[in-house]
Amino acid sequence: MIPPSLVIESCETCRRPKVACVCDRIVSYPTSLRVLILQHPQEQDALLGSAQILVASLPKVQLVIGLSWRSLGHALGEDVDLSKWAVLFPERDGRSGVREASALDGVVVLDGTWSKAKTLWWRNPWLNRMNRLTLKPKQPSIYGKLRAEPKREYVSTLESVALALTLCGESPEIEAGLHRVFRTLVQRVRDANVPKEARKLPRKTRPPRPS
Ligand SMILES: [Zn+2]
Repeated sequence: MIPPSLVIESCETCRRPKVACVCDRIVSYPTSLRVLILQHPQEQDALLGSAQILVASLPKVQLVIGLSWRSLGHALGEDVDLSKWAVLFPERDGRSGVREASALDGVVVLDGTWSKAKTLWWRNPWLNRMNRLTLKPKQPSIYGKLRAEPKREYVSTLESVALALTLCGESPEIEAGLHRVFRTLVQRVRDANVPKEARKLPRKTRPPRPS
């Protein structure tokens, strides 16, 4: 067990506790696909949150924190062609996704635990009117037992976005690179043996939006 001071001591760059800092592993990947992350304000277990890695690695990522927005344009802060955007969705039987993923301008992903993502889904009815990019992950989440999700297809925000990038025609190198950083994060948190209740971060430690 590590002393509590190590959990509190934070990195100057990402402002996250040092045990959950992966700044030394971040690689920037320019993409043509845009990514909008809708993050629930009470993202639990934030030490293991993967959205921060996406924000640091992908210049075209936009992260907004909240519970509801009037529309996609409202969340993005600009008008966009809705037909060129899709929301990431775990695959279920009988549901068809977008036909041409490579023609998309951007994707929307809901960040938070499974139940928090569900809340976001219900609070934003416009998501139901969007194209869906259905995801069928090839392997179970890198989280492993650190964060139990109810179904195999519910993987982390990072893994969902990484898979979507590949489906949309970005280089598979990006997916592999993002997975490597995320594995490092999970490994560091696992090695530090941080108690579950200590993994929730106070609001102030959330990383700032890059300018
Ligand atoms: Zn850091």
